Formats: sequence, structure tokens, C-alpha cells
Amino acid sequence: MKLLFASTLILVGSCASLRHSEKIDNLRNSITYDDKKVVEKYLNTIKPEELKTHVVEVSSDKYNGRMTGEEGHDDVCDYIRSYYKSKEIKAPKSNKDYYQKVPKSVLPDNLNDSQNVIAYIKGSEFPDEYVFITAHSDHEGIKDGEIYNGADDNGSGTAAVLEMAEAFKKATNDGYRPKRSVVFLHVTGEEVGLHGSRYYTENPVFPIEETVATLNIDMIGRVDDRHIDDENYIYLIGSDKISTELHFIAQKANKEFTNLSLDYKYNEDNDPNRYYYRSDHYNFALQNVPVIFFFNGEHEDYTKPTDTADKINYRLLTKRTKLIFATAWYIANSDERLKPEII
Ligand SMILES: [Zn+2]
Repeated sequence: MKLLFASTLILVGSCASLRHSEKIDNLRNSITYDDKKVVEKYLNTIKPEELKTHVVEVSSDKYNGRMTGEEGHDDVCDYIRSYYKSKEIKAPKSNKDYYQKVPKSVLPDNLNDSQNVIAYIKGSEFPDEYVFITAHSDHEGIKDGEIYNGADDNGSGTAAVLEMAEAFKKATNDGYRPKRSVVFLHVTGEEVGLHGSRYYTENPVFPIEETVATLNIDMIGRVDDRHIDDENYIYLIGSDKISTELHFIAQKANKEFTNLSLDYKYNEDNDPNRYYYRSDHYNFALQNVPVIFFFNGEHEDYTKPTDTADKINYRLLTKRTKLIFATAWYIANSDERLKPEII
């Protein structure tokens, strides 16, 4: 009897695992780009020279390292807002000036009031569902008389968001408005403790339960020591933690359009760097919003005044931005809403 019981258990176990792998295969196979040529058309509007223009601007000395609450950071927020205005990409109805004030009462001591910048393109079929693309706009200011330019951290992410917004806007103007609304959120106060994203998720402008996914970008313009010999990579962190489907969407986007090597080293639960907890996507993950954190890893200029625009790899920044755009495009245009479900 005992033996039979044991073998029955094994049988049940193997059936269960077969069903699981079938489920996984079905999910993976369900992700297809029926509009591949259209996606490619707008991917190709993301250009290295335009990304460079934004990185050079945002990381220039005149912004004095973009410390939260200081004039330099306010001026960068104005640059970002002016860009959206110039492209006729709208502000939320509730925040007509594109700004969400982040009061100094929620920021660490001695910092002044600051702001998140929010723009969006309204969806055609599911306008009340929102796909977020986020990047922090602040950096470390001036220390010991040296300006911390933060070209990679996070001029690269800021530039990527602006370029993707332009690409979605061009598609919209040509009749390919995304089915879901796409929100471009530039958060403040990241370097001093993820404050802008925390404030946003606690005071959301669009309902957090209708926030379908958040793609967060923090440093995607450089190459780390682990990839000196093959720079065609990006780290993805968190993609499988809330939604298995999101994990597969990013893989499909990469396979179809960019062919980067997707490195999941820092996605391991026991990774001592704990990057999953260290950028703005984490505040969305706390609200059960599926997230991906796109990241190039640390390099010799990380958190140093030598993180300057001349050291950015613009060809690679372009390719990585395209991966994020193709991922966002799928989430925004799929017939079924992305499920926050692990299978
Ligand atoms: Zn950063």
C-alpha cells in the first residue's frame, strides 16, 4: 500500500508539472506582435543623436547636479515639461502644469519643495488603463565643489522616456494611438530615498489599481565590468516577480526587435546588491503593479562627478530604449490587459 501511495503521488506530481509547463508554453506562445512592421516604424524614430541631445542637456553643468528641491533640478523639470508641451503631449487634467508637487514635508530635512513631472497620451480603447514609463530626474547635486552630472544616472533614463514619448506621439498622429493610456512619469527625490515615486504611489494621479505595469529606467547608457567583452546586454530586474506574462513580453520584444542579451543576475532573490528595492519601480511593486527595472549595472563613474555625457554609449542607449519601447507598445496595445499573476 505504501509503495502504491508513493507512486500515485509521483504521478499526480508529474501531471501537475506537465499542466504547469503547458500553461507556461501557452502563455509564451500567446505573445505575438501582429503589427511588427508598425512597431518597427516607430522604433526607428528613436535615434542616438536625439537621445544624446537630451543627455547632454540634462547632465550639463548649468543644472548643478539636479539636487532635489534646488534650482538646477527645478530647471531640468522645466526642460522636461517644455519638451512635452512642444510635442503637444498632454498633462493630466488634474495637474494641468505637468507638475505634481512633492512637498518638503515628505522629503528629508533641509530639502525644499520639489515636483514629479507627468505627461500622457490617452488610450483609444482602454483609456482608463495606464502603462507607466518612469525615470528619476534628480541627481546628487554639488559635493566638495564638484558638480555631479549624472549623465548615466539618470540622464540616460530621462532621455529614453522623452524619446519614447515622442515615438508614441508620432504613432498617435499617424493613426496608431495606443489602446491603453501611456504615462510618462519623471520622479524627483530618488537619490535621497525614492521619495518622488513613493509620494506618487501614495497620491496617484491615475488610479493605482488601473496601472497595468511600470517600466522603470535608471542607468542604461553605460557598460559594466561584467560585460566589457560583450556590451550587447541589459539587466532586467523584477520582471517575473508579479507577472509571469510581463516577463515573457519583455523577452518577446527583445527577440523580435533588439536581440540584446537579457541578464537576470540581479533579479535573483538572494542577490546581495538588492537592486530590486533600490529604484522607483519598487514603490509600484509594493502596490502590486507589475514592474521591470532596466539597468546597466554599476561602473567606475557610478555616483562620481565623472559620470558625464561624453562617456555614454549612445548606440547602446538607443538599442536599450527600443527594447523598452517595444515592451511598452505590447502592453499598451494587447487585446487583453496584462495580468498581475505568477504561473
Ligand atoms: Zn539612479
